[in-house]
Amino acid sequence: MSDCLFCKIVAGSIPSETVYEDEHCRVFRDIQPKAPVHLLMIPKKHIENLDDLKPEDAAVASHMLLTIPRIAKQQGLDDGYRVVTNNGEGGGQEVFHLHFHILGGGALHSL
Ligand code: AMP
Ligand code: ZN
Repeated sequence: MSDCLFCKIVAGSIPSETVYEDEHCRVFRDIQPKAPVHLLMIPKKHIENLDDLKPEDAAVASHMLLTIPRIAKQQGLDDGYRVVTNNGEGGGQEVFHLHFHILGGGALHSL
């Protein structure tokens, strides 16, 4: 996806403050943080959002969910944290490459 911002971050053609990377995903700091710690976890594969997940993406999707608690611990989010994914325009999605917001490091309003 040559036009996708987060694919460019995966490729390294747009810089990011990466805190974690493995064969399936990358985690970097959100450029406009909404909490003291605001990370974005993305799959390296271009997947638009949850609606675009295919059965063959099951391993990547589960890997990301299982990795989030490790990242949270590594980032010192011992009090807890929030995981959000905006899905589609009506869900507030602006970048159409699947991403999980990981927020914490301060009190968060309850939803
Ligand atoms: P969403 O509204 O869920 O699609 O969220 C997109 C997020 O990407 C927003 O929180 C932006 O602040 C963030 N963002 C946009 N461009 C960059 C970038 N170059 N590096 C890091 N985060 C970005
Ligand atoms: Zn992409």
